[in-house]
Amino acid sequence: MTQTPAFDKPKVELHIHLDGAIKPETILYYGKKRGIALPADTAEELQDIIGMDKPTSLPDFLAKFDYYMPVIAGSREAIKRIAYEFVEMKAKEGVVYVEVRYSPHLLANSKVEPIPWDQAEGDLTPDEVVAVVNQGLQEGERDFGVKVRSILCCMRHQPNWSLEVVELCKKYQHQTVVAIDLAGDETIQGSSLFPGHVQAYEEAVRSGIHRTVHAGEAGSAEVVRQAVDTLKTERVGHGYHTLDDEALYTRLRRENLHFEVCPWSSYLTGAWKSDTEHPVVRCPVTEPQGWHQASGGQSHLSLTQEKATRTWGNRGQACTGLSAKLKKGRSSGCDRITRGS
Ligand SMILES: [Zn+2]
Repeated sequence: MTQTPAFDKPKVELHIHLDGAIKPETILYYGKKRGIALPADTAEELQDIIGMDKPTSLPDFLAKFDYYMPVIAGSREAIKRIAYEFVEMKAKEGVVYVEVRYSPHLLANSKVEPIPWDQAEGDLTPDEVVAVVNQGLQEGERDFGVKVRSILCCMRHQPNWSLEVVELCKKYQHQTVVAIDLAGDETIQGSSLFPGHVQAYEEAVRSGIHRTVHAGEAGSAEVVRQAVDTLKTERVGHGYHTLDDEALYTRLRRENLHFEVCPWSSYLTGAWKSDTEHPVVRCPVTEPQGWHQASGGQSHLSLTQEKATRTWGNRGQACTGLSAKLKKGRSSGCDRITRGS
């Protein structure tokens, strides 16, 4: 997993999932400690099973979470440790600023309906999950010198969680939390318009909580349109299928919408078919400075498919970050969604 990145400069990472960036050693440790069976006994074997280095089907991808999430969810100690180790991992990769996202509900075992991962009911609420993650992130910030902020995810299939997510964003906005996200299966018909999500995003607008939405990765350009027009998102996670709708593409480019694109992840999840041109390639052709690989707001990179694969390939994590804006702008994306010092 450790390798020297081709882009060996300070980096900003805006799209990474905490529960997709856990060390296999830590999973094994808590599996043993908590008496939860895992499909492997060594870190290498486990990495082979839960890691990804080639495209897989959605059921296979989701099955990986079923293996290890029960080991981490519901344990304050494990959750704090994965947050702390996440920051350590980012420091080793040369990341200077990171926004890490997760669903508090998927790590809880109390006051969450349904209780995820077939856990028995316990006493760890989504609220306390956020507090525990924050402790781990803040201790990591202190020890490793990486600036860390977090984004709380609503899940498309659980609109009943979303209003609590926005309340947690408000409660913890001065303790790492900078935005709300909508993650999960965007092909669930009409899920951007589920009242729970819509009301949560309306409250986010009212309360000045920043907003991003996973859209146009596996879903259509229409999902991107709903994210922008209904959910009033300020950033779009992935957004590749925006290119299927020329008018929408032109409009969002004019509006300077920020896209968080993840070339390697899009290859592994099949969101991008590797025998076609990657959507991220298009913009540099028409506007050389339009797509930013954010690195402290200083370095701009015209990206080709080959460069994307070489630079972010084989990182072993879903959704590693490369930020992009559809139009030339002065600031890197992190400036637009970050608050606090
Ligand atoms: Zn993502």
